[in-house]
Amino acid sequence: MRYLSTRGHSPLISFADMLLAGLAPDGGLYLPEVWPRFSPLEIANFKGRPYAEVAEIVLGELIGDSFSREELKADITAAYAGFSDPRIAPLSEIGTDLYLLELFHGPTLAFKDVALQILGRLFARALKRKGGRATVLAATSGDTGSAAIAALGGLENIEVFVLHPQGRVSEVQRRQMTTTAFTNVHNIAIEGSFDDAQAIVKDLFAETAFAKAVNLTAVNSINFARIAAQAVYYFTAASAFDVPPVFVVPTGNFGDVFAGEAAMRMGLPVDTLLVATNSNDIMARALNDGVYEAGKAEPTLSPSMDIQVASNFERALFEACGRDAKFIRREMGLFATTKRIVLPPDVRKALSERYAAARCDDGETLATIARFYQQTGRLIDPHTAVALTAAYNFKGCEKVPVVVLSTAHPAKFPAAVEEASGQIPELPPRLKEALEGEEKCHLMAAEKALVRGFIEAKLRPS
Ligand SMILES: *Cc1c(COP(=O)(O)O)cnc(C)c1O
Repeated sequence: MRYLSTRGHSPLISFADMLLAGLAPDGGLYLPEVWPRFSPLEIANFKGRPYAEVAEIVLGELIGDSFSREELKADITAAYAGFSDPRIAPLSEIGTDLYLLELFHGPTLAFKDVALQILGRLFARALKRKGGRATVLAATSGDTGSAAIAALGGLENIEVFVLHPQGRVSEVQRRQMTTTAFTNVHNIAIEGSFDDAQAIVKDLFAETAFAKAVNLTAVNSINFARIAAQAVYYFTAASAFDVPPVFVVPTGNFGDVFAGEAAMRMGLPVDTLLVATNSNDIMARALNDGVYEAGKAEPTLSPSMDIQVASNFERALFEACGRDAKFIRREMGLFATTKRIVLPPDVRKALSERYAAARCDDGETLATIARFYQQTGRLIDPHTAVALTAAYNFKGCEKVPVVVLSTAHPAKFPAAVEEASGQIPELPPRLKEALEGEEKCHLMAAEKALVRGFIEAKLRPS
């Protein structure tokens, strides 16, 4: 199995090299040269099997010969050993033909754990084989930082530096990062905003001599290994039904919902992928009106979906235009300057064969949390509520199961949940204990040189 770039000007590489690289050198995103395909019988056989077994089969096809089956199996077992539900991604029935796919049973209570827990382990393995060390540098406004720390903490040959804006992440989010016991994780609180922290990270990646010297790496939301790991729960969920379901996906960067397209391209029958956005609705506008145009990201109650551009959309576009790398180079080049792409009719048609889209504002998000609590006595987080709103409004066919991806535990977003329902969601005891540990964090002015100096000092052999 080899990987190509959506922009067509990078050499084909193995899964392991793709995993370490993240972004392709021509600026494109990696995809399998040819999608592996499962037969209807193979897919039917996924029904009722343990999650880890399905993961091994699906990922096994995508990694090719980069890792042995034993290595993959060991990493999958370790990745999901820390999940609080042995089913990893359980389906629960919440209404007539309506289901929640719970993806928040990992260590940080958000769906990013499902992919990052496995990605971190495979990354360490690929790095060890290649030799050398890696320095992971990330800026976070909350969620990505803790998921990265949980995934990369304690791994060999990797040092992790996470910048967050001091005083601007919630207490739970801060403690999730700063109470880590892993000595290869370094938290930095920047005296400034998230944008200041992100600008420092960007500038340090642009310092090529430094970046090369420390082998700077991003925990990339565009790494195909994440998509590969997320495709697994589409298989396990869909195989529970006798007819192809609708999946409703709370969407930011388009990674999670593209994992649904990946599963479809590997043979999984799916009725529709319903893209649900908050008021940062670039993807709803692109799919409904045919114009992909960046807006200004505004804060909402579902912050992990507050994005300006949806990076992974490039992958769907590449497939929708018949893998025309020249088209992607031209359109993404145009987008870089004008922030706008008008989708040609044939591309729109191809996208509409699998995707539908809806947007939901904060008022509707709160109303859905309240309605769902009144109906079922259960609490959901605001990201899940965006998707559930889209599911309530979706006019599908009768008897087609609708599966809403539930991407975070309600206790991660207590303020919004309480405002909507009057209930304060309880933190799972496991997390509560972890948060009581000692906090370790370095406070720093928002200056690139200070952060660079700190990283260099930490990497120096003592
Ligand atoms: C990251 C995230 C999303 C959005 O996923 P994308 O892959 O960026 O579309 C949705 N919900 C939660 C809780 C998240 O953390």
